[in-house]
Amino acid sequence: MESRFTATHQKLSDDGHESECDKIVKLLDLMIDGEASTEEQSYFNTHIEECVPCFESHQKQKLLKGLVCGHLKRVIVPESLALSIKARIQETV
Ligand SMILES: [Zn+2]
Repeated sequence: MESRFTATHQKLSDDGHESECDKIVKLLDLMIDGEASTEEQSYFNTHIEECVPCFESHQKQKLLKGLVCGHLKRVIVPESLALSIKARIQETV
């Protein structure tokens, strides 16, 4: 039981995971800019459903993009939330 869990965990955080996350990182910009193809979008969405770090970086990128783009008419993210996200990003990096 324990070994099965470990194997799954290693599979996720070791071999395949790294290269998959690499692809996701490259796709991230396309996704944020809305330039990813349908195929790329489904690959991306499938991955972030299972990969918390990629999911979180996608959320951060979306929020940062929203904060950086001054042409948004309404600020969707409360400032306090934005600050706490920035703080979390700094912690992670
Ligand atoms: Zn990932």
